[in-house]
Amino acid sequence: MSEETLSFQNFNDTDDIISSYYTGSSNETNKLQKTKKKGGRKFTEIWKYIKRGKKISSGNYEGTCNYCDEFWVVAKPLKLKLHLAKDCLKCLEEITQIFINKLAKDEIQDNENL
Ligand SMILES: [Zn+2]
Repeated sequence: MSEETLSFQNFNDTDDIISSYYTGSSNETNKLQKTKKKGGRKFTEIWKYIKRGKKISSGNYEGTCNYCDEFWVVAKPLKLKLHLAKDCLKCLEEITQIFINKLAKDEIQDNENL
């Protein structure tokens, strides 16, 4: 008997949560789209694969490969991409492939000197 009361209460709670979730979620979506438009620097993607270390100077960081532990005093994104595309012996083949494709396309143009 008391169990039934309990589950009935639970049901009401859930209902409340769901309706506030829906109201909140449309706001969230708007926010997300605004943030997206600002755009980011695309190089940040590299830090999924490379551990970012100390900041050296504006925009320059130390880096360590997540897979083979190679270390760079100045981890320039292009160097890192080349490493993952060609030099890294331990990263997954699909990751190598991602960076080979990136380098083969336009991304090599945002070249900083190697
Ligand atoms: Zn590596």
